[in-house]
Amino acid sequence: MRAVRLEAIGDMVMRMVEKPNAGPGEVVVRVLAAGICGSDRHMHKGEYPTAIPVTLGHEFCGLVEEVGESVSSFVGGELVTVDPNIACGTCSACRRGRPNLCANLKAIGVTRDGGFAEYVAVPCGQAFTLPPDLDPVHGAFCEPLACCIHAIDKAQIRPGDSVAILGGGVIGLLMVQLARLAGADQIILITRQLSRREAALRLGATQALDPTASDAVAAVKDATGGGVDVVIECAGVPETLQTGVRMARRGGAFILFGVTPAGQEVPVPPFDLLVNEVEIRPAYLNPFTHARAAAMVASGILELDSLVTKTIGLEDVADVVGSAPSTGEIKVIVRP
Ligand SMILES: [Zn+2]
Ligand SMILES: [Zn+2]
Repeated sequence: MRAVRLEAIGDMVMRMVEKPNAGPGEVVVRVLAAGICGSDRHMHKGEYPTAIPVTLGHEFCGLVEEVGESVSSFVGGELVTVDPNIACGTCSACRRGRPNLCANLKAIGVTRDGGFAEYVAVPCGQAFTLPPDLDPVHGAFCEPLACCIHAIDKAQIRPGDSVAILGGGVIGLLMVQLARLAGADQIILITRQLSRREAALRLGATQALDPTASDAVAAVKDATGGGVDVVIECAGVPETLQTGVRMARRGGAFILFGVTPAGQEVPVPPFDLLVNEVEIRPAYLNPFTHARAAAMVASGILELDSLVTKTIGLEDVADVVGSAPSTGEIKVIVRP
């Protein structure tokens, strides 16, 4: 079968590999749709650790094609979304109910072969059934959505709250929709690209700001009478971290979601954080949220079609992952 392999940092190539078999407790999924994620670009550049050589692709949806020994939850033919993060269940973090902080975390499409391929073998406990008539492209959104739901849980948004979201990529645009569904009253999206600001306004943002055109911190404080209840940082660049913490109201929360390159340091003002009691809450991965993401996608409550800006085949994955996102890009979907 064809698979897109990360062979070395900066070296990704599509080639023929053995089709996987379902080992005990595993199912083999025929991939129908897979999303390209910012993390894939980080892995390609060596900014996020992987087990090279490996087939990338951690956001995918497909049909159960083969069922391994001792699997009772699938018979074959089910449409499934896969939670890529596999916790060990026995380390101290796992035993404290924090599987996203597992000391032995493995991940499909990161440390074991993933979904930029025709087939992928996954532990059956990682697969979640979707309605058979669901568009598999929607199914490919479950993984990023599950991570966003964890951030929304951490944000503890209450009806009537004000929320600022920094970054207008697929994550920022999912966060806009989730903040609206959580009952936020004011939702301010901050991003440079006009097309993304327009998309945010269509999807439920009440205001969209260009940080290069004006002082976004002042504009947010002005619009909310002193700062928002919740800031969600989804860009992962020093600038948005630094401006983001200043957008929170006194006693507000700053949700750290964007992935900055490992080792990156960013100066922050501890005195201001202290006297304003701004709570910095990181939201990493998707602990216990994949089933809720699958339920939301199945319900059709989210607008996902307009987030897909390009659909490609496996032969073009290496090119797209190896280059910076093109202007206007929101989500690129791979259809093997
Ligand atoms: Zn991802
Ligand atoms: Zn563990």
